[in-house]
Amino acid sequence: MTTIKQDDVIQSVTDALQYISYYHSPDFIQAMTAAYELEQSPAAKDAIKQILVNSRMCAEGHRPICQDTGIVTVFCKVGMNLKWDATITLNEMINEGVRRAYNWPENKLRASIVNDPAFARKNTRDNTPAVIHVEMVAGDELEIAVAAKGGGSENKSKLGMLNPSDSIVDFVCEMIPEMGAGWCPPGVLGIGIGGTSEKAMMLAKESLLQHIDIAEVRARGPQNNIEKLRLEIMDRVNALGVGAQGLGGLTTVLDVKILDHPTHAASLPVAIIPNCAATRHIHFMLDGSGPAKLDPPDLNVWPKLTYEPGADARHVDLNTLTKKEIATWHPGDRLLLSGKMLTGRDAAHKRICQLLEDGKPLPDGLDFHNRVIYYVGPVDPVGNEVVGPAGPTTATRMDKFTETMLGKAGLIAMVGKSERGHEAIDVIKQHKAAYMMAVGGAAYLVSKAIRGSRVVAFADLGMEAVYEFDVKDMPVTVAVDSKGESVHETGPQKWKAMIGNIGVKVE
Ligand code: SF4
Repeated sequence: MTTIKQDDVIQSVTDALQYISYYHSPDFIQAMTAAYELEQSPAAKDAIKQILVNSRMCAEGHRPICQDTGIVTVFCKVGMNLKWDATITLNEMINEGVRRAYNWPENKLRASIVNDPAFARKNTRDNTPAVIHVEMVAGDELEIAVAAKGGGSENKSKLGMLNPSDSIVDFVCEMIPEMGAGWCPPGVLGIGIGGTSEKAMMLAKESLLQHIDIAEVRARGPQNNIEKLRLEIMDRVNALGVGAQGLGGLTTVLDVKILDHPTHAASLPVAIIPNCAATRHIHFMLDGSGPAKLDPPDLNVWPKLTYEPGADARHVDLNTLTKKEIATWHPGDRLLLSGKMLTGRDAAHKRICQLLEDGKPLPDGLDFHNRVIYYVGPVDPVGNEVVGPAGPTTATRMDKFTETMLGKAGLIAMVGKSERGHEAIDVIKQHKAAYMMAVGGAAYLVSKAIRGSRVVAFADLGMEAVYEFDVKDMPVTVAVDSKGESVHETGPQKWKAMIGNIGVKVE
């Protein structure tokens, strides 16, 4: 009879989380490389290139693929016949593994978990607790799948309680535009069909743990209805033209995964959960012989790309930037930012706007007049780093603060990822400001442009504090110009029409 040791579970979970923080899996890299080669939209191709270059840098440098190192989600299959050599529960072992992984000195990961979620939202500082699912199965082994799910993609999850006669494909295609680009496409769609509402969500999440194999399914032909459905959804979704980072292009999804379960005759639950450009998961078995052995991937799988911003990129000095200069920018323009920019995300915006609305002063030294803000919560630095990986966070979450930040605080431009909502775009137009996007999922690459960093306010917020970054040639794209034109609206519209009209082959 197999005996599973507590220390082996802890060590394996720690190792797995460190591993997936910097290694994309080879199947993901191969699918992303194929998308890069196929892509015809220059903006989307540039974004995919940044994701691939970032991925290789992370694999070589053992630093996180994305500044959001995720909420840990674990699926365990526990053999009915195994024995334990343990003094704590399986959940406690897993959480101890999470604690050690996220505080690993050579590659500290960002702690993103807050407790008391409806009220205090206090960071637990070690990224615990994980979300853990346990299933009892036959046998005497312990099977564990570990994922670190980014908040941006998790936030775009959808559940539809469809009528049995409704079209699943139509439902997915209705949801994709609603999801916007906050899930950092291209990625993988996980779809759960059947069961009950919570079972469908679980199936969707679990389906994302499977290997990317849609190219093989297409090449050999679908062998069952689920495979046919996967191909149909993939083709219909890619024909929407959303593209990498929502910029418009040929590839929005790299694969579609489906798991199903019997359901009630009156029901058709359908859950959609996207996996982003920072898709991170790994799977291992423990049989009592020690911790899991996780072999590093062959780095030759990564394409040998280097990232040089195009010769057409304009240099922008943030220290002298004016609204007059911003008025010359157009949607899709590529810019290289140099100089000082402030940072801030959800918690800091909430505090700043509350102070301004109450007529109170901002903390000493915090002045947004004629400044640019970057929506980011960086990873802590290690070694000689100025800052750890520091990619953009989803801008739509800051939409409701935009009027106050532009009108009262004096901000003139913002940098984030994904689209802006209509109200925020109206405010940007009214104030003749601009919104720029950096590539989500290219956090380590972006961080190389940051040459200086200091906390300016709200140090107690940790990664959500306001920093001042000193950047050199940070690559961004104008996403909303001072006239309110949004590249996230025009790009997908253009590419949807092109795919439809000229029949661009999408695989
Ligand atoms: S790639 Fe995008 S959605 Fe994924 S973890 Fe990073 S920022 Fe979040």
